[in-house]
Amino acid sequence: MNSPVIAVVGTTGVGKSKLAVELALSVKSSAADHSSRGFTWKDSRVLNADAMQIYRGLDVITNKMPVEEQCGVDHLLMSIRNAGEDYVVGEWVHDASDLIKECHEHDTIPIVAGGTHYWIQHLLFPERLASDPQFRSIIRSDETGESPELARSLLTLPGHLKSLYEHLPHRESIASISEEDSYNLHDLLHRIDPIMSQRWHWKDSRKVLRSLEIIKENGRLASQVMRDQDTTESLPRYRTLIFWIYAEPSLLDPRLDGRVDQMIKSGLVRELHSLKAVASTSRASEIPTQGIFQSIGYKEFSAYLNDAPDTFIPDPSSSVSPSFLEGVAQMKLATRQYARRQVRWIRNRLIPAVASPSRGNRAWIYLLDANELGETWELNVRDKAVSIMNQFLANQDDDMPDPLSLSKQAAELLQPPKSSSLPSELLSARRKRICEICTKNPTRPIMIEEGKEWRMHVKSRAHRGRVRREQHLATIRQLREEAAERARLKAAEASGGTT
Ligand SMILES: [Zn+2]
Repeated sequence: MNSPVIAVVGTTGVGKSKLAVELALSVKSSAADHSSRGFTWKDSRVLNADAMQIYRGLDVITNKMPVEEQCGVDHLLMSIRNAGEDYVVGEWVHDASDLIKECHEHDTIPIVAGGTHYWIQHLLFPERLASDPQFRSIIRSDETGESPELARSLLTLPGHLKSLYEHLPHRESIASISEEDSYNLHDLLHRIDPIMSQRWHWKDSRKVLRSLEIIKENGRLASQVMRDQDTTESLPRYRTLIFWIYAEPSLLDPRLDGRVDQMIKSGLVRELHSLKAVASTSRASEIPTQGIFQSIGYKEFSAYLNDAPDTFIPDPSSSVSPSFLEGVAQMKLATRQYARRQVRWIRNRLIPAVASPSRGNRAWIYLLDANELGETWELNVRDKAVSIMNQFLANQDDDMPDPLSLSKQAAELLQPPKSSSLPSELLSARRKRICEICTKNPTRPIMIEEGKEWRMHVKSRAHRGRVRREQHLATIRQLREEAAERARLKAAEASGGTT
């Protein structure tokens, strides 16, 4: 029941790996000196949550912590794959869950640390992935049948749509789909799941197809899948304590630049060459884009690597070549952009998941100020984290400090985004509606998004022109009908008023 997990998140260059080691050492030492901190955990291990540090070797490009700085703390899920191999979120979540279970069985605290926040989110708040087929196969959902709503609407489908549902087009062929097939796909979605179909224009076949795929994969309406996520998204799998180490971008950026320079000094170029060698043995003519090849550095130096000889020869003059300098600049830029994305993920995804009311396990997230390194870091990051961790591990829930009270920065950044991100709220947002007046061919309807676009549409010349024509025709129709009616009455009178 009590299954604590500690996570350390944040951008590169704020000291995540260092804090993870400090926390683990603190657990170990309090176990060793039998100090009564109110918990009985004996040991602690670090689980790597950095998608690049999964790979063996390549210590520079993946930013791995040197072994001597690990201070004897076990680091798991690190250096477990070769460059060129794939390792995806579902596999990591699966492996990390197993290791966490094993840790708990041995009175050991798992500390998950890394910058791949997407992975951490799916480990700690798993239901978000429910509609992801890759993950579903791992969590082994045993839903097989179709929901009653889906079964009912499938029964009433006309033949051509029924067979379309059974043989959905492939995603690769969707770009070249005909207008007729586009409309049929949307019509199919509309008949099965009208709420979902309102979200997409009928010409937006890629999205329409994706909704249909979700329906097939889940055996339920796509709109229902989205609603279910509202109720399940915040079920922390563990009793969770998250530390977000944060530095202001203006202070972090120069630090990140310096890191790139340091990586080059430490042998980045040699590693890039070895990656190039791996790439050349994989399928010819195709630049690998998966796994380690996504790491910042490889893409950025591709022009330089193309020009360079196949085997690495240390050559000081190459480090001033234009393509090399361009690579350095690109890598610095990409590193900064990556840091921004990491922060956005925490603010838009992780914080709402922590903040939304949950049943069962509780989760906390604390922001720690890493604007300065050195002694200040030890005070603001390490010491604060250790003290919060001790309360957490002693189950003193009521004594846990209010995360927003820690600093001004915390109060601002830990506030969940104002607009609620409930998946089902998307269902009623940006609905498309058909303009009956402008639609000439009902199987090629004119669809316009509700709100601003619709208001602009009804004011447009084209639409108003059609409205006037429509009114004019209606008036003529009415006059004709009235004339016919009068003629009938006259005829009736003339025949003696027998009616
Ligand atoms: Zn119109």
